[in-house]
Amino acid sequence: MLNFYPGPSKLYPEVRTYLSDAYDEGILSTPHRGEQFVQLSRTVVGLLKRKLNIPQDYHIFFASSATECWEILIQSLTKTKSYHIYNGAFGEKWFNYAKKLRPESEGYQFDVNESMPLDQFDISDDTDLICFTQNETSNGTQVSPTTILNLHNRYRDTLIAVDATSSMAGLNLKLIKADIWFASVQKNFGLPAGLAVLVCSPRAIFRAKQLAERDHYNSLVPMYEKMLNYQTMNTPNVLNIYLLRRMLEERPFIKTIESELTDRAQDLYTFFEQFPEMKLLVENEEVRSKTVIALQASERLVDDIKKRALQYNIRLGNGYGTWARNTFRIANFPAILDEEYEELKRFFLHYYV
Ligand SMILES: *Cc1c(COP(=O)(O)O)cnc(C)c1O
Repeated sequence: MLNFYPGPSKLYPEVRTYLSDAYDEGILSTPHRGEQFVQLSRTVVGLLKRKLNIPQDYHIFFASSATECWEILIQSLTKTKSYHIYNGAFGEKWFNYAKKLRPESEGYQFDVNESMPLDQFDISDDTDLICFTQNETSNGTQVSPTTILNLHNRYRDTLIAVDATSSMAGLNLKLIKADIWFASVQKNFGLPAGLAVLVCSPRAIFRAKQLAERDHYNSLVPMYEKMLNYQTMNTPNVLNIYLLRRMLEERPFIKTIESELTDRAQDLYTFFEQFPEMKLLVENEEVRSKTVIALQASERLVDDIKKRALQYNIRLGNGYGTWARNTFRIANFPAILDEEYEELKRFFLHYYV
């Protein structure tokens, strides 16, 4: 089965070996306060920084999902409210969680074909955190590096948090341009779900200490204190942390991965322009995602494509949220091979030209 689902997505095939290695090495039953775990955790932190270009002075934490990261950040880095800029389902969900914890939180919804309209925001001084989704998996849009830079320059005094769940480990993100970044590993990392990586600037940690929120097992300050010794509050997903180590050891630097994905995204966008009954959901090239491609067609055709693809042993991503019925999505993640996209193209050429 070829799997183009944008999360959970195709695993690196090496995961099969890593799994049995983890068992054989005995790492799965060692205590998470012991030297063997600390060693693993320290190695993974070093690898993440080196391979993904994470600034040396940023802090790395392990959580269980991106959803948990949404909650951690609202709990521990906001006193009054956060401000959410979104154009799709994941950004909106984060905003909805924030409102439950901090009812004054505000949101700004923009159009899928629009760059984030930086001069439209009304962000008051008592806003603790600005939140957005770098790559909106639900509709295949992205916030460009230039826009992130401009946002950073405009709101230098406010912490900025970025959901990079479907771009981290695929794109060479400029982490220095925001304070908080996070992703779960079942997208570009090519690993099974159940682990998230949360990255915080020194300034974010400083702010967390000021707020000193300690009401939850996953409050940021206690997480920070434990992580000074490469440990976690609760028993972590050691298996996934181990898989992350093995995967990162063997992968090239993020710059290389990004360049390959960028070329492939361009190729796929060009390819999908030729079908009369389908169109790219995102018309504005500047905001098109490099890692998730969304295609729009009639509900009937979308249904037909997905069913036929399954018969052909190809799994496509369903549409999501507002676009559930009239779109389908194709992941452009590093674990998926070029040959697999060639097979996908043959399928579309055969049935839909
Ligand atoms: C998949 C996804 C999430 C949710 O990730 P979980 O690991 O299921 O919590 C959040 N945000 C974005 C942008 C995603 O793509």
